[in-house]
Amino acid sequence: MANIHSINPLISIVLPVFNEEAGIQETIDVLERFVVARKERYELIFVDDGSRDHTIEILHAAMQKFPQIRIVEFSRNFGHQLAITAGVRYASGDAVVVMDADLQDPPSVIPSMIAKWQEGFAVVYGKRRHRDGETWFKTATAAAFYRLLRSMTNVDIPVDTGDFRLMDRKVVDILAQMDEPDPFVRGMVSWVGFKQTGVLYDRQERYAGSSKYPLRKMLGLAMNGITSFSKLPLVIGYWGAGLLGIISVLAVLTNLFLGTMTGTTWLIAMTGFVGALILLSLGILGTYVGRMFTASRQRPLYIVAQTEGFKQAIVKPKQ
Ligand code: UDP
Ligand code: MG
Repeated sequence: MANIHSINPLISIVLPVFNEEAGIQETIDVLERFVVARKERYELIFVDDGSRDHTIEILHAAMQKFPQIRIVEFSRNFGHQLAITAGVRYASGDAVVVMDADLQDPPSVIPSMIAKWQEGFAVVYGKRRHRDGETWFKTATAAAFYRLLRSMTNVDIPVDTGDFRLMDRKVVDILAQMDEPDPFVRGMVSWVGFKQTGVLYDRQERYAGSSKYPLRKMLGLAMNGITSFSKLPLVIGYWGAGLLGIISVLAVLTNLFLGTMTGTTWLIAMTGFVGALILLSLGILGTYVGRMFTASRQRPLYIVAQTEGFKQAIVKPKQ
């Protein structure tokens, strides 16, 4: 197909890394073989998210033999989503692929993403058909979360889809403008719009090391997803008030006609219910106010300690 992208496009692969010394060399080797076998040009941007092990030394050594490697080094751990944000901002490719550095997202899926991109899709996300080596708990909670989020927002966020995806330059440029603290990148990409599609893939088992996403971080990400894409929880008070109204009418009627339930029992039940509802609404309010507080401080989203492998000519992206 005659398409500007098909001439000899540059593809940037962005990989956030945090304490991946056990498997990073294998990831680099697999990607090197992949890049050599392909006709497109590639750059590999590793964003070191404040690793405290030997990840950065391994990356530096690999760079000597594999000149397509670029490194963005954070001053500390800022989190997976901000590492992706930074990597995407430093990327200069016609298309940018985001993937995990633990080989859970297989590079063999990238050619089908590129093919869809060349057909004219601006975003091609990887949709998990099957998850290898992940706990029943993680698979079930993730599936429930994606469906809950979809039911709460107008943005078309696909289910069972992580951050493994290819994005066209026009999407990357918009994403780079979005200065959201606590970003939920996969939702932001959906929000941008244009033609988006998915390719199915089997998520592999982590090659080495352990997940850097404990339950606490997973819950944090889920909360960020909901609070940045839905205002529905904020109005839970209305629903509660409506429900309470119905219950109080029922209480009055029961007492009047049947007399089976005493006023005291009703009073105790309702007070508890009202208390719980008020506390829940307060907690939800607090969560959104907390987001506004973070945004109002206007701190940089992350601090880059140093970068390597980028051409001097590249304008330094905003922090
Ligand atoms: N990661 C990161 N910063 C963090 C946590 C994770 O850059 O604070 C990286 C990690 O090295 C990996 C990717 O983000 O390349 C996804 O993390 P992980 O594989 O641990 O998550 P899981 O696949 O278990 O959900
Ligand atoms: Mg992983």
